[in-house]
Amino acid sequence: MFSEDDHLYMRQALDLAGRGLFSTMPNPRVGCVIVKDGAVVGRGAHLRAGEPHAEIHALREAGERAKGADVYVTLEPCSHHGRTPPCADALVAAGVGRVIAAMQDPNPRVAGTGLGRLQANGITTASGLLETEARELNPGFISRMTRGLPFVRSKIAASLDGRTALANGASKWITGEQSRADVQQWRARSCAVMSGIGTVLLDDPQMDVRQPDLIQLKSGKQPLRVVVDSSLRISPDARILQGGNTLVAYAVDDAARSAALRSAGAELVCLPGDAGKVSLRDLLLHLAGLDINEVLVEAGQGLNGALQQAQLIDEYLFYYAPILMGDAARGMFALPELTDMSQRVELEILEISGIGEDVHLRARPRR
Ligand SMILES: [Zn+2]
Repeated sequence: MFSEDDHLYMRQALDLAGRGLFSTMPNPRVGCVIVKDGAVVGRGAHLRAGEPHAEIHALREAGERAKGADVYVTLEPCSHHGRTPPCADALVAAGVGRVIAAMQDPNPRVAGTGLGRLQANGITTASGLLETEARELNPGFISRMTRGLPFVRSKIAASLDGRTALANGASKWITGEQSRADVQQWRARSCAVMSGIGTVLLDDPQMDVRQPDLIQLKSGKQPLRVVVDSSLRISPDARILQGGNTLVAYAVDDAARSAALRSAGAELVCLPGDAGKVSLRDLLLHLAGLDINEVLVEAGQGLNGALQQAQLIDEYLFYYAPILMGDAARGMFALPELTDMSQRVELEILEISGIGEDVHLRARPRR
């Protein structure tokens, strides 16, 4: 159904979409290529929410040459009035001949309506070309539209024997500089970075994007920092609260502490779950309500264990350093004892690479 050329042009559109990896949020990353008589005449990428969509950039470059052209776009063109007019209308007005989308709009309420509007105006449409690749560009946006939850990644730095901190909590630095730079990329593409109170009390991290090139790509906009702190133990002086843009989720209120945190600039949300703990599912629902697409968890075994047990982690980023820390050191997930191998958690490894002296694995739970 799709030709070799179709694949080639859609790959170019996917590459263009990648330009928005760190900056389109809460919008999806989208790329577009317009082809006339075997030549690319327009290219576009969506870069920032509120700015033109990929199709509009590509149509502007193509100008008159868009008439009768083939349009390759990584996501179904929009048909609703958001912050910008609908792209479907602009494509109709330009008189394009054919529109190929990598995937339909993941929002079930509008899926198919953009392509439908094109068809109603005599434009040939198709979708599903390189759909898997297109979905991988926007796991958070798709998750939010289809499940009402963000896509949650957990980054775990460990020794080769799977230990993440000494028994006394010390964990700096297990992995090398290059692994930490790689984590900065994942942090920068996330809408939120989440940690637990244990890590905040032990390491007093800032959890922000520090690489100047990444900060520039994001126009200085930092991910929301989220601290899971059931009984409000965080200090108003914690570095993670500096500069604002930090949400503290708690379960048990303490009027004096919450007032002190608010005056330190923290946002607070009370989401009680079982046993005086924060309901992690409610927290993720809350984050989706704030238009958070991708969440990067950088936490210790407590929060990781709780998220794992609630089946709320969608992807694991493991960084293994070539060191051994022994079985008195802390593991990755605090979980109740398993008594049968049938209770084990199975993962699918998507990627294995060497980063500096470390080994990096990206994996997802088999569900
Ligand atoms: Zn659009």
